Amino acid sequence: MTNRKKVLVTGANGQLGQVLTQTLRDKYGMENVIATDIQQLEDNQPYFEFLDILNKHRLYELVNDYGVTEVYHLAAILSANGEWNIKKTWDINLRGLLTMLSMFEKLKLDKMFFPSTIAVFGSTTPTNNTPQEVPMLPETVYGMSKVTGEMWCNYYHQRYGVDVRSVRYPGIIGYQSMPGGGTTDYAVEIYHEALKTGKYECFLEPDTRLPMMFMDDAIRATIELMSSPAEKVKIRSSYNLAAVSFTPAELAESIKKHIPTFEITYKPDFRQQIAESWTASIDDSRARADWQWAHQYDLDRITSTMLDKLALK
Ligand code: NAD
Repeated sequence: MTNRKKVLVTGANGQLGQVLTQTLRDKYGMENVIATDIQQLEDNQPYFEFLDILNKHRLYELVNDYGVTEVYHLAAILSANGEWNIKKTWDINLRGLLTMLSMFEKLKLDKMFFPSTIAVFGSTTPTNNTPQEVPMLPETVYGMSKVTGEMWCNYYHQRYGVDVRSVRYPGIIGYQSMPGGGTTDYAVEIYHEALKTGKYECFLEPDTRLPMMFMDDAIRATIELMSSPAEKVKIRSSYNLAAVSFTPAELAESIKKHIPTFEITYKPDFRQQIAESWTASIDDSRARADWQWAHQYDLDRITSTMLDKLALK
């Protein structure tokens, strides 16, 4: 009997997708992980296929051609960019997911990952140490599409037994790739600018506290959740997931420990309102209990790693 695993990643050339795809290839072999996106990273990108997630025919064709067994469905329009084209955001984020879930049910594929987000929370949600089950009234189309997506994942699991797993990522900080139009993008841009120019103009107010996570922790959480025995994965909407929470001012202080002359200024834009509708910190005790999630990077470790790695680049 062959124990064949063939993985397809959608949105594979985005901030998270690039790092996740590489990690999956290190684990399962280059040829067993097919990267798909609507944009290519380079000419002749290896094991890459163009896939617009709204093109159902192309999705089925690729899954059949490669004998795909697992999908990491990352393709989405993020919180800030989503506000500029709300209809398109809804279509890509939700219609794309429904096509995927329905395909899993029809073809009886093995396992699927769907990333949700802290953007599912809104002003009706308790702000500090936000529990797993809370009132949710998101104020962006992105958040609306993701909370609805969570419900569809739960539905397809309960009704059809689709093995879909999900976490609500906080803002992700990594040196490997650039962020794609979210409200937490400042926490990546700031390190690039600190090294390049020694200063940064932040689009959020100094005291805006948001949950964040280092890329390595986010990728490890994803792989650990997907590798857990199915019976341990008790939440089939989406797990709260947390690491650290900080403000732009605290992040600037952390950078100043390495670059004492670093200067931050503040010019809040429309993203401030989005950030204010989200929560400040997350209770992820269910993920810690059910599949033994534990983060490894605090703010100062994130800062020293980001500055070291970016300086090498
Ligand atoms: P990103 O914007 O960097 O990447 C998304 C990718 O999807 C892009 O490469 C884009 O080309 C692709 N894409 C857009 N429309 C598409 C379509 N119609 N068909 C196929 N591909 C399409 O986003 P990311 O930061 O890598 O996020 C990946 C996932 O993780 C998303 O679902 C996002 O909601 C979720 N998430 C990210 C963060 C974060 O901080 N980065 C936080 C919470 C949740």
